[in-house]
Amino acid sequence: MHIVIIGAGECGVRAALALREQGFEGSIDLVNGELHAPYERPPLSKPGDDGLIAKPVSGSEHLADKGITLHSGITATKIDRGTKQIVLSDGVVLPYDRLLLALGARPRRLAIDGQDVPNVHYLRHFEDAEIIHRSIESGKRVTIIGGGFIGLELAAVARQKGTVVTILEAAPRLLGRAVPAEIAAIIEARHRAKGVQVLCGTSITSIDAQGRILLGDGTQITSDAIIVGIGSLSNIDLALDSGLDIDNGIAVDGRLQTSDPSIYAAGDCCSFPHPLYGGRRIRIESWRAAQEQGDHAARAMLGSSDLYDAVPWFWSDQYDLTLQIAGMSGDAKKTVRRAIDDTALILFHLDQDGRLLAASGIGPGNAIARDIRIAEMLIAKRAHPEEGSLANPALKLKALLAA
Ligand code: FAD
Ligand code: NAP
Repeated sequence: MHIVIIGAGECGVRAALALREQGFEGSIDLVNGELHAPYERPPLSKPGDDGLIAKPVSGSEHLADKGITLHSGITATKIDRGTKQIVLSDGVVLPYDRLLLALGARPRRLAIDGQDVPNVHYLRHFEDAEIIHRSIESGKRVTIIGGGFIGLELAAVARQKGTVVTILEAAPRLLGRAVPAEIAAIIEARHRAKGVQVLCGTSITSIDAQGRILLGDGTQITSDAIIVGIGSLSNIDLALDSGLDIDNGIAVDGRLQTSDPSIYAAGDCCSFPHPLYGGRRIRIESWRAAQEQGDHAARAMLGSSDLYDAVPWFWSDQYDLTLQIAGMSGDAKKTVRRAIDDTALILFHLDQDGRLLAASGIGPGNAIARDIRIAEMLIAKRAHPEEGSLANPALKLKALLAA
């Protein structure tokens, strides 16, 4: 049997390795549209003490040892579903019995004049990060458009290097999509305390040839570099061109199978019905989901009928603060607050029947990590924890698991 995986990010690589872990002995071709060996994206916006490095997801040698053929610097240009073949940009044609689309996402572009002037940067690939981190230097002025994860993580890195930072957010507050207001306010306060100028509710009219930003209220902002982080769009073109169903990404069922039974999709590029949230179709853009879905898709391609039902989870690091969110709070009707101490806080989000849907935590270092981990298990169990116990920091959450 031939399995082809398109996309060698977190998800595609994990899937290739999982196929071998499951004992699959047929051929695996992993099509890597990038020149770099597969690397992790989270450090691109928050490099460690060693600076920006392409931290490998898995080294090329390891993949070769596992008998996985990596095609680097080559994109898949066409899926021929009739003949079950993939056409690559170098003219090679790969046959497949099973195909996994792990195509990831790309940055949403500004829809205004001037977005292509040379000092405007978007972040997705290692090469983007190299340019961006060169522009983050002491004394330089950087304007960040978008107060989401990319914008805020880069703002923290830039301030630590002495860069003058302004954030322009269109919405009335930061992190409006995924983070509760109380926690977003803590993050905003930390950025302001570190000297970041945060402007919410801004509309950008244009960017001129000199890289000056003109706001709707007539204000002009001059900076050495502009970094745009206004969300991402899933990479659906290949799937769309080959007639697969699309619905907020490549539409897959609970096993991560597309509308073509030979083709699967996973990671940032797909949307799937989530059993924990009433079967509602969701698309998750997070590192751990990309890994878990890669693993799941590998097993599904080998015949597993298990449904993907992992609790969504992600983190963000800014200064000494770590944010972690498990679950989805969209349907929550009630929030219970647990102040671990003066610096760390967890919010539990419950539905009208008291079922725990999500938990959002913030604190220094790993102050909230263990409780969020336990909350995740409670969410997976569809638990209805007692509110007083959730609120009481003296009570160990683990006790609720047993209940
Ligand atoms: P990707 O990592 O995007 O990989 C997809 C790959 O497919 C890419 O290499 C792409 O070039 C390739 N590809 C696309 N089309 C083709 C084609 N036709 N042919 C060949 N190859 C193709 N998540 C967290 O939970 N916490 C974090 O702190 C965090 N930090 C992040 C920081 C940054 C800067 C970014 C960009 C993302 C971050 N994320 C974080 C999100 C996380 O990295 C993604 O959810 C994850 O990388 C998704 O993995 P993926 O394999 O689905 O997609
Ligand atoms: P994001 O987290 O979705 O944030 C984008 C922000 O920009 C939103 O607050 C959005 O507001 C705002 N915005 C949209 N259009 C705007 C405009 N024209 N002007 C000003 N603000 C605007 O997306 P991102 O930060 O660009 O991140 C891209 C991808 O990388 C996502 O997949 C993200 O999950 C991933 N990532 C994740 C992490 C992490 O999990 N720690 C870190 C970095 C990157 P609205 O919501 O109102 O549109």
